[in-house]
Amino acid sequence: MNSAAGFELAETPTSIQILQKILDTAREGVIVVDRQMRIAHCNVPAAVAFAREGLDLETKRLSEVIRDLDLHEAFRQVIGSQASMDVRLELRTAEKRKFDVHVSPIELDNSCHTIGFFYETTQIDRLETVRQEFLSNISHELRTPLTSILAFVETLEDGGIDDKENNLRFLGVIRRNAERMRSLIADILELSLIESGNITVEIREVKFFDLVADVLTNLSARAADREIEMKNDVATETVVMADCVCLEQMLTNLVDNAIKFNRRGGIVTIGCERREDRIAISVTDTGEGILPEHAQRIFERFYRADRARSREVGGTGLGLAIVKHLAKLHGGEVSVHSALSSGSTFQIDIPAF
Ligand code: ADP
Repeated sequence: MNSAAGFELAETPTSIQILQKILDTAREGVIVVDRQMRIAHCNVPAAVAFAREGLDLETKRLSEVIRDLDLHEAFRQVIGSQASMDVRLELRTAEKRKFDVHVSPIELDNSCHTIGFFYETTQIDRLETVRQEFLSNISHELRTPLTSILAFVETLEDGGIDDKENNLRFLGVIRRNAERMRSLIADILELSLIESGNITVEIREVKFFDLVADVLTNLSARAADREIEMKNDVATETVVMADCVCLEQMLTNLVDNAIKFNRRGGIVTIGCERREDRIAISVTDTGEGILPEHAQRIFERFYRADRARSREVGGTGLGLAIVKHLAKLHGGEVSVHSALSSGSTFQIDIPAF
């Protein structure tokens, strides 16, 4: 392989060298194979993608370098038919990289060769899977309350409306499910707004003690329902550099969870510490805690440790995903430390500026 930097600056590069240089700067891998199915040329991206342990690819058999029957067959057919074709390649390595490969005939030095362009699709395929899973989750999450609403409307239509003892209860179920759909749609819209990148964060000085006090006031009725004590352990003079609306949203989601998943009569404590150039904001509860296998996944959209419990307490499964994204927008992150049956601490780390 001619290295891109392989010719002296003083020399006038030949057209082959220029071509090699252009190919080396491309994002796609390029491999040229001769009639004997040996690699005649390749560019740097192809060498990076397919050379095991720095092995030089040139003169190696294609089948030695990439062990994939369909790919091998495509190169062979193109040599025979002189017509281009496309093939999918999935490397069976630990990373499972995927490529769309366009294979064409090419004449070099008066001899027939085939050239393959390897477009990596690993990332696009992964995003497509995430999108499909998200859509199917949304449909499922919306269908459940909708089915319940329709069933109770039918009950009312079929005479339930005259059932003086139960008609208000039926309406209550309809209302609860409609509210559930509303909060689900609000969270989905919020999340897609953040993910689309159309949200701008305005980093300003925020009087953090006051912000925490507001969040606790807003959630005080929910806490009182479960006899939960809420403690603002933030020093009164604390100033945090952040977007005020985002910070309030993150805290609301974490404190709301700390109330929902606490034991009756438990405690929720909000703290804030400066650690060198970072600010660590913590929300600690005295609830049931989270098993390590769930703790790794609860920041994913719609992931719940206990689906039935989350529904029962009015969760959408999106609260922590929103917190994760908002923390990222601040150049920070969110993490959890939890011990089963002795509660959890969620921590938002953001730069102190
Ligand atoms: P939800 O709407 O279900 O609360 P979240 O994204 O906010 O959705 O949380 C995801 C899951 O993480 C919850 O369903 C619950 O299983 C778990 N979880 C979140 N916060 C806590 C907490 N403070 N204590 C125990 N489990 C929690």
